[in-house]
Amino acid sequence: MPVVITLAENGQISIPDDLLKDLGLKPGDPVSLAPVPEGILLTPHLSSSPVAAKSQLQDSIHRKNLETPIHVIKGVGPKLAETLGRKGIATVEDALYLLPNRYEDRRQVVPIARLRPGMTSVFAGEIISADVVATKGGRRFFEAVVRDASGTVSCKWFNFNPAFLKKSWKQGRRGIFTGLVSQFGLQREVHHPDAEWLAEGETVEAVMARDPVSFGRVVPVYPLTEGLHQKTLRKVMKGVVDQFASCVESVLPPEVARRQGLLPLSEALQRVHFPGGDADSQLLEEGKDPANRTLVFDEFFFLELGLALKRQGIALETGIAFSVSHTYTKPLLKLLPFAMTGAQRRVLAEIKADMMAPHPMHRLVQGDVGSGKTLVALMAALVAVENGYQVAIMAPTEILAEQHYLNLHRWCDELGISVTLITSSLKGNAKKDVLARVAEGAAQIVIGTHAVIQEKVEFQRLGLGIVDEQHRFGVIQRGLLRKKGENPDILVMTATPIPRTLAMTVFGDLSLSVIDELPPGRTPIETRVCYENRRQQVYGIIREEVAKGRQAYVIYPLVEESEKSDLKAAIQMAEHLANDIFSDLRLGILHGRMKPEEKEGVMRSFKAREIDILVATTVIEVGIDVPNATVMVIEHAERFGLSQLHQLRGRVGRGSEKSRCILMTPGRLTEDGEKRLRVMESTTDGFRISEADLEIRGPGDFLGTRQAGIPDFRVANILRDGRILEEARQEAFAVAERDPELKLAEHAKLRAELARRWGGRLELAGIA
Ligand code: ADP
Ligand code: MG
Repeated sequence: MPVVITLAENGQISIPDDLLKDLGLKPGDPVSLAPVPEGILLTPHLSSSPVAAKSQLQDSIHRKNLETPIHVIKGVGPKLAETLGRKGIATVEDALYLLPNRYEDRRQVVPIARLRPGMTSVFAGEIISADVVATKGGRRFFEAVVRDASGTVSCKWFNFNPAFLKKSWKQGRRGIFTGLVSQFGLQREVHHPDAEWLAEGETVEAVMARDPVSFGRVVPVYPLTEGLHQKTLRKVMKGVVDQFASCVESVLPPEVARRQGLLPLSEALQRVHFPGGDADSQLLEEGKDPANRTLVFDEFFFLELGLALKRQGIALETGIAFSVSHTYTKPLLKLLPFAMTGAQRRVLAEIKADMMAPHPMHRLVQGDVGSGKTLVALMAALVAVENGYQVAIMAPTEILAEQHYLNLHRWCDELGISVTLITSSLKGNAKKDVLARVAEGAAQIVIGTHAVIQEKVEFQRLGLGIVDEQHRFGVIQRGLLRKKGENPDILVMTATPIPRTLAMTVFGDLSLSVIDELPPGRTPIETRVCYENRRQQVYGIIREEVAKGRQAYVIYPLVEESEKSDLKAAIQMAEHLANDIFSDLRLGILHGRMKPEEKEGVMRSFKAREIDILVATTVIEVGIDVPNATVMVIEHAERFGLSQLHQLRGRVGRGSEKSRCILMTPGRLTEDGEKRLRVMESTTDGFRISEADLEIRGPGDFLGTRQAGIPDFRVANILRDGRILEEARQEAFAVAERDPELKLAEHAKLRAELARRWGGRLELAGIA
């Protein structure tokens, strides 16, 4: 039997006399303590004092740190450790942050007569029948009827292995059962219950006492189940929480914790995993318990603190102080057929002020589709080139990089500035040549995908890095780009207006400029969702517009540049339209597999009105600008993200004529799918669209894939916890302002924990 001994204030431990005798010790004998899976191992020690014993105890707790591999936990064998590992749980800390996604109230055994539908309940009784039942309709299920003194309830399995079930579910057997009660006609039933069997003559109480992890409490239900029994995992988690939750130290400044009403972290962890008797499992399930708030706040706080320090750190570094000579910027403005909008001028002034300052710029330019970000970026690039520096422009896909290349080199040719494109398809000598030109500085503006930040690319003198469509890149990519020069300025452009909460997590380290004005003369685009049965009418609209001398786009989804079947569909569609529908009109096709020269040729013909209808894939998402195009038909609109539809739609409505966007869909959309597309009809405000997109799809999808740069949160949920994020951000930025390098003694632990959580990323962020 384990004996509880207490550590006194003065570090003394007192061991009951009879235990001392068992151990062959007498009062005053030194002992040493060591952590073992079962608890703490006490052994007689020859050269220790009670005080030494205390510090040893603390050290050992220290060593029992959170990086302890999970296989050390009692009950975790090699096979289980492997299963857990596959789910990303390698250490005790990983396990502590695997939170239950729901709870079951197993505090009481409920008499069968009092089982209520909708509740997960525990009941006990004897099986009075168990067998396969066939319905009249030919369906088969397994049914076991359980009886206690108050009544009977039917347990059912619909997908089952009868031999397996019959082995344990036998008439006359007694057990304790747990499951969700449902109602079927007048009868209550429980599907696929858990069972804990009673041995001959054993009482319910005895069995429950034997397994205090699963009974007599609010029990956690974890999200991992594949190849893993809930019960097994629960026992492992109990071991982890009991042994290690207390090792998790709260290092947030105490006044922050007090102001924000936070629990100690160790207590919060204990509470979310194994809630005490007073717990409200509903609140916990909804993430609204103080324990949830504590964990979420903690996670956000460190994220925001890192961003805050990074921002301050960069602001303090020495950077390039550019001067504005107007050598190229003035001539460019003369070449342009229009004047800059007020918003463009304001944002450009903010950028120039940053560039002239002797610290690195780190700025985000946000502006809706068509607000003219490219021009602003080009002007900034020209300032760098005027000062004899190189500029790198990074886009998330090859196609976007090519589009930028095509757009910019037209202007730059006239100004006598060399623009170079780096793509991953560049091979052999051609690649060598390009890299050499970049290294020598002959390439003044270099455009590419993340190929630009690869090791082999060396700049002679990088002064400015521009990242377009930033939401697909993260802090690390920005850090790598910075490393390509000596503290170059960084300008980030986002075409997708990003909801505030996301912006704070992804771009929290950047200063913000917003181009909040569209160039004049644009008319709002009318958008309509059309089902397949309206196709002929849609063709009619295209015809009408062309008859008026306007042009049209028909867009095909090509989600991945590599999806051959999609490409085929687009090409077939173009042929069908050319031969069968619009044989009297001039059609062109544009897709990502075409060579840059071919694409440029097609775009030029479209611009010169030599093409009436351009069938294209999403290649045209950016870059194409033909004010005479007044109608866009987007096929399979349901396959696009809303923000992407918004980008595409931005290709029309660029002139003074009324423009239309028709979202074609084959019909039979889900309710959510329909709701999404209707958003496009109701607004042309990019911010509202992206908020709606985020709400419907969730942040992961919204931002695309892994490259999103959005941190993987362990416990927080951006949508649910937006308020906490703002509070954590304020507190974190206040700490960073007061102690920009976390040098104060009181912040030592905070600093260490920050470094641990951000890992290598802090160095790239420039503050390690
Ligand atoms: P986005 O912000 O979506 O990247 P672009 O930079 O592609 O927008 O600009 C959209 C179109 O507006 C381009 O054709 C560009 O030449 C044009 N444009 C940019 N600035 C102005 C302006 N001040 N006045 C008129 N047209 C402009
Ligand atoms: Mg753009």
